[in-house]
Amino acid sequence: MIDPVIDLHTHSNCSDGSLRPDELVRRAHAAGVHVLALTDHDTVAGLEVARHEAQLVNITFVPGVEISASWRSQAVHVLGLWIDPESRELGQHLAAQIERRRERMRIICSRLNKLHLPGDALLALVEAQPGVPTRAHLAEAMRAGGHVKSTDDAFRKYLGKGKSAHLAAAWPALAEVIAWITGSGGVASLAHPSRYALSAGARRRLVEDFASAGGGALEVVSGANGKQDADASGILAMACGLAGSVGSDFHSPLQTWNPLGRLAKLPSGVTPVWRAFGL
Ligand code: AMP
Ligand code: MN
Ligand code: MN
Ligand code: MN
Repeated sequence: MIDPVIDLHTHSNCSDGSLRPDELVRRAHAAGVHVLALTDHDTVAGLEVARHEAQLVNITFVPGVEISASWRSQAVHVLGLWIDPESRELGQHLAAQIERRRERMRIICSRLNKLHLPGDALLALVEAQPGVPTRAHLAEAMRAGGHVKSTDDAFRKYLGKGKSAHLAAAWPALAEVIAWITGSGGVASLAHPSRYALSAGARRRLVEDFASAGGGALEVVSGANGKQDADASGILAMACGLAGSVGSDFHSPLQTWNPLGRLAKLPSGVTPVWRAFGL
């Protein structure tokens, strides 16, 4: 049998993706994806529509979420895979998380005001969007208003770590977020481990802490990352007793370098996280 095409990390316009959940599923189908997780930032709002659409096109759908957490002073992202979208407890935690995001957005925009940018107008634009507000929405509003050349520029000049409008977010602790996920029947997978600005030693401690707090997997193959990152993450996963997950972190068809489902295989020796789910 040929290996199924699996993508366990994607976004819809319920957070900072550009496609509706049903459009995302149809695009995944057209791209040849067999197993798809929708993992919006801090929300499960798109899961029902996506699940329904996936059934129509015969995609195996994995209900997911990507939750912001903090480890020491580092913001990290934890994927919850095979979560129960109906879990009341998880829903309550995510509602608090979205309120944290709204408050953070208000503070960032007030900082933009002080930098002589139209923070109030930018905030209104972000708040008018349907999805959970992220810095990606703000960066796009800044680009559309001609205040920066590109969204990357917005992060480089204002929104990125250490920049003038950056706010170190008070996300809940890593162990707490893992407990929300496992408490709703899901597996926690640490997203894009190579992306955090950490030394090799600190990255290893992060993954060790993640595993001892009940994390189940590491996103060994992530988006546009290369083989070197996947190999290094595979070694870490095996050393810490974690399974491996694979995901594009797809946000938009305009990001042509990062399409749905075109992902490398897990390095040999890494246990696929989907094995425990009969896939
Ligand atoms: P937030 O979750 O509010 O911190 O927003 C971060 C989101 O912005 C990420 O999930 C990315 O989708 C997006 N993003 C785009 N470019 C960058 C960048 N240069 N640095 C950080 N995040 C970025
Ligand atoms: Mn995002
Ligand atoms: Mn992420
Ligand atoms: Mn993501």
